[in-house]
Amino acid sequence: MIKPISHFIGCEGEYSDSDIVLFGIPFDGTVSYRPGTRFAPAAIRNESYGIETYSPYLDKDLTDLKIFDAGDLDMPFGNTQKALDKIEKFVKKLMDDNKRPLMVGGEHLVSFPVIKAVFDKYPDLCVLHLDAHADVREDYSEEKFSHATVIKRVWELTGDDRIYQIGIRSGERYEFEWAKSHTNLHKFDCGVVKDIIPLLKNKPVYITLDLDILDPSVFPGTGTPEPGGITYKELLDTVVRFNELNIVGADVMELSPHYDQSGTSTICACKIIREMLLAMAKH
Ligand code: MN
Ligand code: MN
Repeated sequence: MIKPISHFIGCEGEYSDSDIVLFGIPFDGTVSYRPGTRFAPAAIRNESYGIETYSPYLDKDLTDLKIFDAGDLDMPFGNTQKALDKIEKFVKKLMDDNKRPLMVGGEHLVSFPVIKAVFDKYPDLCVLHLDAHADVREDYSEEKFSHATVIKRVWELTGDDRIYQIGIRSGERYEFEWAKSHTNLHKFDCGVVKDIIPLLKNKPVYITLDLDILDPSVFPGTGTPEPGGITYKELLDTVVRFNELNIVGADVMELSPHYDQSGTSTICACKIIREMLLAMAKH
């Protein structure tokens, strides 16, 4: 019998001796346009067997690390608050056990409970947010908790000047205006990352990566594609540089595999997750 794939390639560590814990959140309950991110964690695990565990960019190999893949959390569909509570509780336990979380989404809203649990442990946390969208609406369709509001909810925890938004090219005018006095928002590309990294050295950093920062020509597999994005190579170069940071948690969000029949978007996600895990590894 063929064994179902139960972990991301190279993530075969035991919980007890792993420093990084990867887990999937198959939740897309508040997406505003096209659902489907709930299928991402399973697609990513399956397709991860099409990539290598070794990164020639970082000259590191997943097989040299101890990473535990905890699988997916069961999500109560139709009950957003219950889902958020469940995720926060799960990540709190990881933090208590001195693990670092790497979440595979799922829609972007579910970054909130993860960042909340990480912030509880690291009150001086800085958040790097890579995305096409500003995600700082006060509410969306009268919902306070939505993937279009997630960074606003994070800001309510961290306060001003602790969030760096990168690659943003879509949002309402008031979101961009609001960001001017509350976050550090940089439009369109990742060029500014080289200036941000020295500022964040020695600080605990959480990286939340919405893959729709990529141009839809390389990453059509997402619910709200936004033309005018960065290349895969630009994102790769950026994630590789995160190696210089003290990453205490990270996530890779918003792949919706079925919108890309070629499967290329899923492979992009897999390779970025590999680089993110390797960037998180202590040297
Ligand atoms: Mn987005
Ligand atoms: Mn987003």
